[in-house]
Amino acid sequence: MNFSHNTFLEKIAQTTSSPFLLDIESAEGVYLYTPDGKKYMDLISGVGVSAIGHRHPYVINAIKEQLDKHLHVMVYGEFVQSSPNILAETLTSLLPDRLNCCYFVNSGTEANEGALKLAKRFTSRSEIIAFRGAYHGSTHGSLSVSGNEYKKFAFRPLLPDVKFLNFNKIEELDAITNKTAAVIVEPIQGDAGVRIPSIEYMEALREKCNANGTVLIFDEIQSGMGRTGKLFAFEHFNVVPDILTTAKALGGGLPIGAFIASREMMHSLTHDPMLGHITTFGGNPVCCAAANATLEVIENERLLDSVESKGQCFEELLQHPRIKEIRRIGLFFAIEFESADDVAKIVNYCLQHGIITFWFLSCPNSFRIAPPLNITNQEIEHACKVIVDAINTLGK
Ligand code: PMP
Repeated sequence: MNFSHNTFLEKIAQTTSSPFLLDIESAEGVYLYTPDGKKYMDLISGVGVSAIGHRHPYVINAIKEQLDKHLHVMVYGEFVQSSPNILAETLTSLLPDRLNCCYFVNSGTEANEGALKLAKRFTSRSEIIAFRGAYHGSTHGSLSVSGNEYKKFAFRPLLPDVKFLNFNKIEELDAITNKTAAVIVEPIQGDAGVRIPSIEYMEALREKCNANGTVLIFDEIQSGMGRTGKLFAFEHFNVVPDILTTAKALGGGLPIGAFIASREMMHSLTHDPMLGHITTFGGNPVCCAAANATLEVIENERLLDSVESKGQCFEELLQHPRIKEIRRIGLFFAIEFESADDVAKIVNYCLQHGIITFWFLSCPNSFRIAPPLNITNQEIEHACKVIVDAINTLGK
């Protein structure tokens, strides 16, 4: 075993000057374990991934079964393999008719890259409209449509022809015209600190896109897979996108993403040019097997049924005069404080007391709570007690 911090800090590329530096030996359910036997409750699901908990036995079993059959055998889109087939059948059966064709990729940002390319190819337009506060990933295309200027300035030039609107402002939707290829939006903005738009706004957005032949892309990479109490957040608004992107929790802990659209739209990737979007590993059979098992767990264990009541339980236990605002949908929370400094103190106190929380990149004065959906009420009570203790250390 090698838990050397020197190796980690010197031989593994760093992206921050102050990483958490927690040594992880194993993980199970809502807990992470260090080599010295300490346990930590993971209240953020590895940032949106472990929605059914870590190493769910059903997922582990499905992975093992697939390991005994085959791993990678061919690049995307050539050979017929069972686990991607099952995943495509299941996902499309759970989605509205219009979303009946899946393209599997390896990550969230790649799902958005594929979605943006598909929208441009399908409409023969180039303009993309995105939103302030949005986070869509770290590769060039996804970064171009993300809102945080601080993350972008060093990497310009990025994609041209991208316009930004304020989220949830109906009066700005006139910016969508017949020149707009796509609007890309998180139906619940995650990294901006759990921003929930009105139903009216989402309906108006859909109508504007319809009127202009603009492709509406919903990035459900963080908001999907049960996080909000519905399998996908768009179900809260009764507004269906033209392309849905998903990743993170889809693989139950293995890396997989997808962009999902109509067969007709997706077909445009087969010609002019042929192989309009390609990937070596997309649809990896082991990742697909894990995703199939994850969807089965959500269904068989009826995990969606208790998301709202568990969310309420957190909210009730987290009343405190120092909290400025709680934004919540399902088990997706931003807890807002006066300053980023207060949040850092709370996150650190929680870490020292066995609870993992985290701030938001574009909203550092809030911290996130997005636990595995199968967290128990007892675990919620314990977590909230520690968090309230942490808030109390801030003083009056
Ligand atoms: N979209 C959203 C809404 C996300 O939250 C994230 C990741 N935080 C991404 C896209 C990018 O996903 P990935 O890190 O897998 O590329």
